[in-house]
Amino acid sequence: LIQLAMPLNYLGMVYREVKQALTNIENMFALLAEQRDVADSPGARDLDPGTGGIVFDQVVFAYEPERPILRGISFEVKPGESVAVVGTTGAGKSTLARLLFRFYDVQSGSIRINGQDLRAVTQSSLRQAIGIVPQDTVLFNDSIGFNIRYGRVDATDAAVQEAARAAQLSHLITEMPKGFDTLVGERGLKLSGGEKQRVAIARTVLKNPPILILDEATSALDTRTERRIQAELEQLAKNRTSLIIAHRLSTIVHADQILVMDHGQIVERGRHDELLAMRGRYAQLWALQQHEQQEALAHEPA
Ligand code: ADP
Repeated sequence: LIQLAMPLNYLGMVYREVKQALTNIENMFALLAEQRDVADSPGARDLDPGTGGIVFDQVVFAYEPERPILRGISFEVKPGESVAVVGTTGAGKSTLARLLFRFYDVQSGSIRINGQDLRAVTQSSLRQAIGIVPQDTVLFNDSIGFNIRYGRVDATDAAVQEAARAAQLSHLITEMPKGFDTLVGERGLKLSGGEKQRVAIARTVLKNPPILILDEATSALDTRTERRIQAELEQLAKNRTSLIIAHRLSTIVHADQILVMDHGQIVERGRHDELLAMRGRYAQLWALQQHEQQEALAHEPA
């Protein structure tokens, strides 16, 4: 028994250590990142995000030197506005988000927030200023309360409850006998893709960052759930500077600017109706998705 207890004890310790290391969302993303090849520069200052205006200025980037991914990307997200990025798979959309979070540094050009080059600020302050609602939200085998509080570990119970309410999770949680102490995962509360995304929304409500990155789910949600969550995402993006990586065009009709990317370049830009009027790439994508969406709706159970 002692032989068995030792490794179990050890495992418990490792688990606690890992959990300790994961006490903020920035660390979680850092761990999830394929690699971290950036460090704070000597004399790096804390970012003053202000109202969060973002500039990408002639950004060139490659993961591997021989394969350019972004070939001179320039755009601006004005404070409080939302810019959506669309384009085929592999065009480089998510790479923009990774660069904004500074998982990698640009090869040339620059990215600035409120006028400050990302390379000149501390990573912790940068990540403090940005909230991410990712495609797939990672949940811990812990209580639903823990999973929400993760957005800001020192949040009060009242704040956690308020965030759950904002993300439309309250009724689900209060129905459970243990409420916010209900475990999630295999042996507890099983959450759907949409509900997991709501946990990410609740975390971001708690974190309350001036800048938001929304990486829309590609296929996890059915159309109706997606429409409901869309309303919550729009609420979240209100008064924040938002970069939206969009897979469904229907969700970005109201974006202040839409960038259409292809092979690491911006090939069209404008508002939804302006882009439709161009009758170019965006108009084609729109027609295609309208058709697909109608098909999907027709096959969904009422
Ligand atoms: P999108 O979000 O538009 O689908 P991504 O920005 O994820 O596209 O990817 C752009 C290109 O970069 C793709 O060709 C992808 O294979 C490549 N890529 C993405 N991540 C890495 C990585 N860590 N290492 C090497 N290549 C990558």
